[in-house]
Amino acid sequence: MIDQPIEGNKIIEFGDELYYYKNNLPQNLGYAQYTYLQNSISRIEALAETVPLDDPRSCPNAIEFDSMTAHTWIEKNIWFEKVRRFLELQIRANLGCEVNEVSFLFFLWYVRHNGFENMMNTQDGLQAHKFVKGTQSMSFFLEKEIKRRGAKIHYNSFVGKVIQNKDGVTVFTRKGEKYQASYLIMAAPPMAIKRIHFEPQLSRERRFIADRYVMGAFSKLVILYDKQYWMEKGFTG
Ligand SMILES: Cc1cc2nc3c(=O)[nH]c(=O)nc-3n(C[C@H](O)[C@H](O)[C@H](O)COP(=O)(O)OP(=O)(O)OC[C@H]3O[C@@H](n4cnc5c(N)ncnc54)[C@H](O)[C@@H]3O)c2cc1C
Repeated sequence: MIDQPIEGNKIIEFGDELYYYKNNLPQNLGYAQYTYLQNSISRIEALAETVPLDDPRSCPNAIEFDSMTAHTWIEKNIWFEKVRRFLELQIRANLGCEVNEVSFLFFLWYVRHNGFENMMNTQDGLQAHKFVKGTQSMSFFLEKEIKRRGAKIHYNSFVGKVIQNKDGVTVFTRKGEKYQASYLIMAAPPMAIKRIHFEPQLSRERRFIADRYVMGAFSKLVILYDKQYWMEKGFTG
């Protein structure tokens, strides 16, 4: 892993306007809005303090917070339009979903882990490092290790059915392959698990998660340049 560069300007776009700034928050929003933004973040962090990390449901206002989205709270409590948009941008970028798709209680619980500013900070924050060869290098490393230990990887084998009995587990792929094992560890996302037939069926709680779990509609575009030309122009990144 390498450290993300911290020197240089950042740019943020609100509507038709571009704001240039160096620290974590766009200071040139204007004195009133900047102060209000800092104050809003402190309010969010104070509310997050009331959410226990190990059991968010035991927060005194859990029912109230969980019955509204982060969007509802922001619309009700934040007066300045640009401050609202800034907060929303951070939530969207960090949680990978729209602000009206996330429970305010979940958002506070997320903030409770590291603080609001830390979510977007490069220096000492959650965006501090990047992988030298990208995150896919982890998958390539695992692939190499698995093969080195003599095990096989079956690519493009979509599991369609899983049967478990006293003799172990039988896995059927959609291509008609069949594999026998003592145990099975599944690391597919809940939505994908829903499309697999299990015998015996999964627990009620596990099926409930798969039924209620919605994947965010989110994509990222990664562009590789030969040269970090923006740095010569005084920008970070
Ligand atoms: C656009 C985008 C950007 C993201 N950016 C970041 C980021 O910057 N930093 C970060 O930390 N996280 C990021 N994430 C989140 C991160 O990618 C996920 O949290 C992580 O990949 C989850 O890993 P996983 O192994 O649980 O699931 P996945 O990576 O989804 O792997 C599940 C695997 O199961 C396979 N599968 C599904 N169904 C079956 C089946 N029936 N049979 C066999 N195989 C099956 C799938 O093909 C897949 O390979 C991002 C996610 C998205 C979508």
